[in-house]
Amino acid sequence: MQPAAYLDKLNPQQRRAVEHGVSGPGDIAAGPLLVIAGAGSGKTDTLAHRVAHLIVNGADPRRILLLTFSRRAAAEMTRRVERIAVQVMGPQARPLIEGLTWAGTFHGVGARLLRDHALEIGLDPNFTIHDREDSADLMNLVRHELGLSKTEKRFPTKGTLIAIYSRAVNAEQPLEEVIGRAFPWCAGWSAELKAIFSAYVEAKQRQNVLDYDDLLLYWAQMAGEPALAAGLSARFDHVLIDEYQDTNKLQATILLGLKPDGRGLTVVGDDAQSIYSFRAANVRNILDFPGHFSPRADTVMLEQNYRSTQPILAAANAVIDFASERYAKNLWSERTSAERPVLMSVRDEIEQANFVATRVLENREDGIALKSQAVLFRAAHHSGPLEVELTRRNIPFVKFGGLKFLDSAHVKDVLGVLRFVENPRDRVAGFRALRLLSGLGPATAGRILDEVGTHGTLLPALEAVTPPPRAQEEWPAFLALARELKAHGPGWPGELDLVRQWYEPHLERIHEDAPSRLADLVQLAQIAAGYPSRERFLTELTLDPPDATSAEAGPPHLDEDYLILSTIHSAKGQEWKSVFVLNAVDGCIPIDLGAGTREEIEEERRLLYVAMTRAKDSLHLMLPQRFFVHGQAARGDRHVYAARTRFIPPIILSRFSAGAWPPAQAEAPGSRAEPAVRIDIGARMRSMWK
Ligand code: ATP
Ligand code: MG
Repeated sequence: MQPAAYLDKLNPQQRRAVEHGVSGPGDIAAGPLLVIAGAGSGKTDTLAHRVAHLIVNGADPRRILLLTFSRRAAAEMTRRVERIAVQVMGPQARPLIEGLTWAGTFHGVGARLLRDHALEIGLDPNFTIHDREDSADLMNLVRHELGLSKTEKRFPTKGTLIAIYSRAVNAEQPLEEVIGRAFPWCAGWSAELKAIFSAYVEAKQRQNVLDYDDLLLYWAQMAGEPALAAGLSARFDHVLIDEYQDTNKLQATILLGLKPDGRGLTVVGDDAQSIYSFRAANVRNILDFPGHFSPRADTVMLEQNYRSTQPILAAANAVIDFASERYAKNLWSERTSAERPVLMSVRDEIEQANFVATRVLENREDGIALKSQAVLFRAAHHSGPLEVELTRRNIPFVKFGGLKFLDSAHVKDVLGVLRFVENPRDRVAGFRALRLLSGLGPATAGRILDEVGTHGTLLPALEAVTPPPRAQEEWPAFLALARELKAHGPGWPGELDLVRQWYEPHLERIHEDAPSRLADLVQLAQIAAGYPSRERFLTELTLDPPDATSAEAGPPHLDEDYLILSTIHSAKGQEWKSVFVLNAVDGCIPIDLGAGTREEIEEERRLLYVAMTRAKDSLHLMLPQRFFVHGQAARGDRHVYAARTRFIPPIILSRFSAGAWPPAQAEAPGSRAEPAVRIDIGARMRSMWK
């Protein structure tokens, strides 16, 4: 292959973005660059080419920071970079690419940088990380301690507390503003919320734990400290980021802190795909990017879509054309096809599941692997009936964006023990571990944790404990376990087996379905084997937990074929030959927003656009005539009659073709004989009102 042949397959705009600031080997002087373009126009591909091009021209991979939306996306990008670099440089590119280790999510990279710099900023490098549920639990704990638990019935739940807190941090907005905008029903509580949040922040510091937001917050703070900022920004020559439309204010602060003059900075994204404003993402980041610098950042727009057939693209464009605000783009595709996207009517979600399972299998018969097909949905529970049907038919699947493997209680218990040993001051982990001992109530657990907190170390404190009589039987085994883990007795990942053996009798006492839960723990040990240490295992699992797999069929192996089930949010950036969107009806897309604001509704429209633009060759939007609602206890579960999503108004119906399932209902001969006379009452009424 000719050295520059990899550039030849790019279109002129893509090539401009790839070559921006690179004059030749060893000659790189790149000012800030923005690539803004619609779905499937090769933004991610262009970014991968740019990274490869930088490396081929002498940039040091160890000094490149590549930020993506998930760890999976980072791994995929690194693979693409390697493939291109090997084409150009031959196998000697491989060890070079191994140096490209700073590729990951904002949170993952933040965690790594903070451990590296912990001592400089007064953090204990053994900090543990709280996931959202742990954070909510800690919120609850401090709320109790402040005596705010039983005062009022309508007090915000722990989930709401953490949501408000997180939003204020990420949007860099005052609390009152966040409450007023997004949580108006909590307006009366702002004094209490402030007290809880201050106590929460102190508790985290005392316990040496960081929540997700802290990973960004400390990083931003570090970037703002003159003594540290220079060192931090000198660490990376090039900073490149994909899906920039979904970053929040804090992330922009970090990025601009890393590269204040924009040199070496490349951001890529699509404002029409901004779908994370509920996590305080702000589309202004991408829109304001060029003007932030002087002279303005170079901007490249890409207009050719290489992913979807023309009819799919036309339908998706029609949906997004109604958006109230967006950067105008003329996205077109060369890929012709006679097949328009299908609006498929079905009676209910059972028939929907039936149709999708049947069609997925037919597609496989036609040579489309399960892995090249995906079923997307707005909310994780929408796929429930389909999961049942797939399991019944033995169709393996992996679900992204739903309940995580780590969310199950037994997995959390085991991780809790490990985390407690790693950082004994982590009270949420400590409670989770101690609670497993029968006869040990929360009050005693609290006292033990106080003791551990004062000592600062685990063993002397535990050894000094006299357990209550009812817990005396189980105490020595727990102590022995803690000792062995502390001494790294069996080494990593062997210690996971040790915890499992200790946990087994507790598991059998607590849960009825112990065998299947034990199988999960064996799987956890297998996952652990992929990490070099307890610390890396705990950090990375918390930041990017593995997704749940089809329970009955067992987890499919990586080389097996399986269907993808995914929330639309988690499908970002990906593509499949055939895509099914479940419940494309009002109440699901847009999700039932009650008094949804205009911005919220607009975000739902972009979600549908993201879902539709994942499809390469075939797209089905499913329209169940009624769907199941998981109601509050008072109302109970019920069915709701559904209408086609409002984002497909009659005026754009011609972009789709219509179908119905089961076909027998619509087409079976005789079942729907043509009437001899058709009486149209509506026409009569309409003429009366004229
Ligand atoms: P999204 O907005 O969904 O993230 P994207 O703009 O990042 O999409 P990519 O995923 O990079 O788009 O590319 C979409 C598809 O188009 C991929 O299969 C990619 O390989 C292909 N592609 C990109 N550029 C070209 C090109 N110049 N020639 C042929 N195929 C291309
Ligand atoms: Mg992309």
